[in-house]
Amino acid sequence: MKWEAVRRAREILAREEGAVVKDWGGRLPIALVYPNTYYVGMSSLGLQVLYRRFNARPDLVAERVFWDPGQPPSSIENQQPVDRFAVIAASISFELDILHLIVMLRRAGLSPLAEQREEDAPLVIAGGPVPTANPELLAPLVDAAFIGEADAELDRLAEVLAETAALPRRERLQALSTLPGLYVPNVSTPPVQRVWVADLDACPTHSAVLTPDTEFGDMYLIEISRGCPRGCRFCLAGQIYRPVRERSVSALVSQAEEGLRYRDTIGLVGAAVSDYRDIDELLARLRAMGARIAVSSLRVRPLPESLLRALAESGSQTLTLAPEAGSERLRRAIAKGVRREDVLSAAERAAGLGFPQLKLYFMIGLPGETDDDVAAIAELVGEVRSRFRRRVTVHVTPFVPKPHTPFERQPMADAATLDRRGQLLARSLRGPGVTLRLEGTAWARVQGVLARGDRTLGRALGALQAPTLAAWRRMLRSAELDEERYLRARGRDESLPWSIVDQSCRLPAGEERTAESYGFAIES
Ligand code: SF4
Repeated sequence: MKWEAVRRAREILAREEGAVVKDWGGRLPIALVYPNTYYVGMSSLGLQVLYRRFNARPDLVAERVFWDPGQPPSSIENQQPVDRFAVIAASISFELDILHLIVMLRRAGLSPLAEQREEDAPLVIAGGPVPTANPELLAPLVDAAFIGEADAELDRLAEVLAETAALPRRERLQALSTLPGLYVPNVSTPPVQRVWVADLDACPTHSAVLTPDTEFGDMYLIEISRGCPRGCRFCLAGQIYRPVRERSVSALVSQAEEGLRYRDTIGLVGAAVSDYRDIDELLARLRAMGARIAVSSLRVRPLPESLLRALAESGSQTLTLAPEAGSERLRRAIAKGVRREDVLSAAERAAGLGFPQLKLYFMIGLPGETDDDVAAIAELVGEVRSRFRRRVTVHVTPFVPKPHTPFERQPMADAATLDRRGQLLARSLRGPGVTLRLEGTAWARVQGVLARGDRTLGRALGALQAPTLAAWRRMLRSAELDEERYLRARGRDESLPWSIVDQSCRLPAGEERTAESYGFAIES
């Protein structure tokens, strides 16, 4: 391994708190691969939970590996090359990270295709939202995929991995296939039931390793709830984290006590932070402990005064809101449940509380969208701007139809339409105080292909040489595939690759909150 990589890993460790460096002797080594940069990966609570829970076991040693374009993949803790580990546990949060994972395997001297890997090669197990939504794309690439929330089954998974370490590969995979949530291609019999944690308080989810070199590096992250009650029609998170579950205030306060030893800001994580049942009490107790409060983004409605005020008093620089569509008509069509007056009132309140910046997220290319809906984005931003005179940043991303959502059979808008609507926005959003950040069409379409891919595409991906558009197109051409095959509308009776995942779930009777308790009606 190159001395430069060792030096960089040691520099990283020197800036961290909470890293675990264990001796490998007699332990099963697991590489926790996050196929994106250290900066992105270290804000992933999923990765942090795996790290803490695996390393708490005396029979395992877990080390982190991140995407580094200039280096063959190796671990941070003991600077070991990835192919020396017994297991590669890859957390895939974003579809495009699949491309990094393939290139990382190749650079580690491993075939990206599972069937071509040697008997003694590490087992590759993928987990996270991407495999949970559509493991079929990954079937030719991984040995197993975890469907759902891994913390529900981590101990059993660890036991099986450790107990079967000396067995032939085929028997190890057979043993894995008996675990709930584990999908072993060509061994498991679909459908695979998605697993989820019934009692969140029993599975604390918070920062384990702290570093200043990540997006949320100045805070200690705590997950307060999982799932979202809103049911926006485009949203994958709203589907694959059901049912909605919340942690108790007392559990969160004790995690915050620990966190305040390291950071003075507590970052509250959850798809539905402002829907949290006891948000006022939680904030009051955290503030009484001297904590500053941060959240990554907020629902436009509800926007509790206690939360907004706590963020402002904590010195938050930015309030982030996601109206998603400009016109009332389109917001209703995607079931966003946000009205124009909600957005404007949020902007006024943000101005009143002195936030320096407002970030607004929108999508273009939504089903049924017209040029008028895109013009409505510019109009809404203009109205926001007249109420919020500081900096407004507008993020616009192309809509990508995702598995398991009500829009899963919708086509993705063609590149020409997306480009034209993007330019329309760029022309109409010119002006002082407004910055437009427009996500490129080409990569969004790659994301769309990967989100709804199948085994044929997965096999073709085995030949991908680099995570670039040119390499992607070469790979598609040589496999005689094209993007349209995956981005087109799917017929009502057409079978879908991701239908092998059973997403049904239910909390025990009496534990599920009603729509009324959130103060809104679920739109059909
Ligand atoms: S409110 Fe946000 S997290 Fe919830 S379903 Fe809608 S987009 Fe998804």
